[in-house]
Amino acid sequence: MSSAVWHPFTQHATEPAPPTIVRTEGAYIETRDGKRILDAISSWWVITHGHRHPKIVAAIREATETLDQVIFAGLSHEPAEQLASALVEMTPAGLDWVFYSDSGSTSVEVALKMALGFHRNNGFPRSRIIVVEDSYHGDTIGTMSVGARGVFNAAYEPLLFEVDIIPFPAVGREQATLDRFEAVTRDRRAAALIVEPLVLGAGGMLMYPARVLAELKRITERSGTLFIADEVMTGWGRTGTMFACEQAGIAPDILCTSKGLTGGSLPLAATLATDAIFRAHFSTDRTKTFFHSSSYTANPIACAAALANVSIWKDEPVAERVAALSRMQTEKVARFNQDERFENVRTCGTISALDLRVGNAGYLAEVGPRLRAFFLERGLLVRPLGNVIYVLPPYCVTSGELDQVYDAIDEAAELASDSL
Ligand SMILES: *Cc1c(COP(=O)(O)O)cnc(C)c1O
Repeated sequence: MSSAVWHPFTQHATEPAPPTIVRTEGAYIETRDGKRILDAISSWWVITHGHRHPKIVAAIREATETLDQVIFAGLSHEPAEQLASALVEMTPAGLDWVFYSDSGSTSVEVALKMALGFHRNNGFPRSRIIVVEDSYHGDTIGTMSVGARGVFNAAYEPLLFEVDIIPFPAVGREQATLDRFEAVTRDRRAAALIVEPLVLGAGGMLMYPARVLAELKRITERSGTLFIADEVMTGWGRTGTMFACEQAGIAPDILCTSKGLTGGSLPLAATLATDAIFRAHFSTDRTKTFFHSSSYTANPIACAAALANVSIWKDEPVAERVAALSRMQTEKVARFNQDERFENVRTCGTISALDLRVGNAGYLAEVGPRLRAFFLERGLLVRPLGNVIYVLPPYCVTSGELDQVYDAIDEAAELASDSL
């Protein structure tokens, strides 16, 4: 019964030993003792169609017949080439180059390095990064630097670099965000703005309108600031469109994608960039090379899984599924609109979120783990962010399954108000 595993974001001193999962299928994960758990958070936002989509499983199996990892500097392979073409075709116009890596954090690190390399190689070095309050871009030192500071990274604060923070564009305060952004870009020294388009995920599923995104883009253009869209969570249908940027009608200079790229089956990430950014690194002067690589860059099996995901989007009515799920989410979460136990009931595409009203911050610290245990007992994988409860299911989830989740949320709030 002893385990050598140190789990992520887990306080081993207080949390119970985690159940062992032996099987995944569709919207469900199954424990060793035969309990089926509805994965209402898509296993930390990675699963799109459902666990183990048969076409993705088949593509992985087939890829292993011919390829495993191949060094990607100086060599190439078909799965990576085909996937790059597909990504260029599917993402907003102008993103013509695809740089592979293996996690969302790494794709953001790559984006930041591309931005600094762009300005430096063009002879006007800029290094300041502008970020949105409450953002999350990963857990490495660089990505923590451009993310919200708090209890999660207090110990590492001395290593984090300085950034300019613009306020979150909360309802009614959008103009303050734009004004602040205008002000910090006026000296034309900001290298890039990095944003999570439409939804700030780990920051608490905070949502803002597409027109703010479009305005931010306009300001970057005027000030020569690069626009980095971190679509690691929002990509692949999550917000209702293939990429969230589409809803603002904008094309970023750099786009990061990872979580849904392989349908959630294998780790893979890509950072897409404009030709201008590629050109800034294209030179007979070798010091202008883009100096970045990960050991598992463009893993062929992961690329094959991603290609299968792309063909599922093309061959199956995924857009319709996403639209139907988005409608269901809006209808079902609406039961809490007038409910005094909650506030900020909201949706964006396939994501719904609501804030449980809680007394004090000490209490707040307690409520998360207790809610998690409550849901798990009912066979539901729901993982609130503090007092923010959200539902972010795989696209194969049914209406009846969603009802179970919302019924449990109702019950959980009851419990939270008496005894939790
Ligand atoms: C999850 C996430 C990341 C980090 O991705 P990892 O694969 O966990 O490194 C970065 N940005 C956003 C918006 C994310 O949601």
